[in-house]
Amino acid sequence: MTQPLAKEKSSARPFHHSVDGSLHCGEVALEQLAARFGTPLYVYSGDQILERFQLFQSALSGRDHLICYAVKANSTLGIIKLLAKAGAGFDIVSGGELQRILAAAPDAANRVVFSGVGKTAPEIDLALDANIHQFNVESEAELELLAARADRKKQRARFALRVNPDVFAETHPYISTGLREHKFGVDIRKARELYLRAAKKKWLEPYGISVHIGSQIRSASPFGDAVSRAVELVNQLKQNGITLRAIDAGGGLGIDYHAGNFNPAAKVREYASALKKSLANFDGKLIIEPGRFIVAQAGALLARVLYIKKNGKKTFIIADAAMNDLIRPALYQAHHEIIPVTPRKGRTMTVDIVGPVCETGDFFARDRKLPRVELGDLLAILDAGAYGMSQASNYNTRMKSAEVLVQGKSAKLIRRRETIEDLLQQEKF
Ligand SMILES: *Cc1c(COP(=O)(O)O)cnc(C)c1O
Repeated sequence: MTQPLAKEKSSARPFHHSVDGSLHCGEVALEQLAARFGTPLYVYSGDQILERFQLFQSALSGRDHLICYAVKANSTLGIIKLLAKAGAGFDIVSGGELQRILAAAPDAANRVVFSGVGKTAPEIDLALDANIHQFNVESEAELELLAARADRKKQRARFALRVNPDVFAETHPYISTGLREHKFGVDIRKARELYLRAAKKKWLEPYGISVHIGSQIRSASPFGDAVSRAVELVNQLKQNGITLRAIDAGGGLGIDYHAGNFNPAAKVREYASALKKSLANFDGKLIIEPGRFIVAQAGALLARVLYIKKNGKKTFIIADAAMNDLIRPALYQAHHEIIPVTPRKGRTMTVDIVGPVCETGDFFARDRKLPRVELGDLLAILDAGAYGMSQASNYNTRMKSAEVLVQGKSAKLIRRRETIEDLLQQEKF
């Protein structure tokens, strides 16, 4: 059953029912935002995003570190700018994401790490021109290409090999990445040889080592294990005369998508202390790449109830948001808490909450107990700030929703709703 979210009980989320009973983001009423900007609508608490970023900053204070927010979790320019101003670096996985940094926060380009298994030559060139912090190289062939492009430009390329530490982390199989059989990284047993070979290239600078074992990992210990393996490799390479100066522990720290007690500050402390413990004998820089943990719980997707219908024993709530807005339930069977923005009295109902897209997989919740709702009511789908808008599509020729950033009393539109003109102008016939 969905509990109302009392503010003091769930510091994990910035959404709370105010004294008038309606759901607010910080000091801003969600009903007002929906009336002003329409639905479906993504609403983010900028205050919470900064708070989460600061949790990592303070947990790692006292050691040389760089927090590179993983842009793919939510790549909206307004969010990049917000985090850049707070001093964040960025983890990117495409040239397109780099263009976003260059547009919203060009001064942060030298705090960018570039991950991804399929970097193209133009993407590498763009990153060399932008003078990014480091390339996280995922294969021998990519290392060759990076060497060639750097050579052409006569420009040094700092790189970290992304190694596969072969650490198992409990999460959904689609977002687990740290095992030998995954497409990511290079086998840690082959890494030493690759560093030795790269060290001979004039324009390549062996700078660090990176590991990223997956996403939505709830326990801290696999992160510590992965970093320990990285430290072993650093020590081996030292004997070969190669000094790596950075260890990039990747991202992946998970949140609790269910209602109940979740203490993000304690979670970050636990995570940081696992990393620090493994890094006790390493005095270089620690890089981390959190995405979800920073933005997921800051965001909600608002949707209006379009229809309520019964088929046999089932009751369907048909909302105006759909899988093209938030695909996580369809893609990963992910759970999202869903609450009416202005709760009504009356019996709870057991319902499926679905969208209008022509796919049975287009659902947000199945057999969910929900307080009574009526046509036109507003629902808040919680914890939608990560991998929501950044995975949105135009499937069924649905326009992408608008996004609003709330800070204190202010609510700023950071993406206007897409129009049919936006969409059609890209096509020729
Ligand atoms: C996706 C990704 C991240 C971020 O993962 P989260 O689970 O959102 O923290 C970090 N680094 C790399 C290389 C990634 O692919």
